[in-house]
Amino acid sequence: MVCPWCGSGRVIRKGKPYGKQRFYCKNCGKFFSENPVKRRCYLNEYKIKVVKTAIRIGISETRRIFGHSTSTIYQWMKELHEEIKDELDKIKKGKLRRRY
Ligand SMILES: [Zn+2]
Repeated sequence: MVCPWCGSGRVIRKGKPYGKQRFYCKNCGKFFSENPVKRRCYLNEYKIKVVKTAIRIGISETRRIFGHSTSTIYQWMKELHEEIKDELDKIKKGKLRRRY
């Protein structure tokens, strides 16, 4: 267990006031409960929206709009490959139709 406030590992258990384990950080003197820091986690729907935008208007534009890094967007593209396949097909077909 690591303190979410200061990142210190000097943490001790300090009672269960509401049935939830409470911890106390000896380093900064703050209390916190179990699993307080969740990694910023995005919903799939949101990721799909970002990825689809990237496909349509390009990654650098998307990065500017949503504020995610290029590597994050690429990561999501890989992750959501199945979900965005239809979208990719549509765009490919659209481009083909336009070109020929
Ligand atoms: Zn601390």
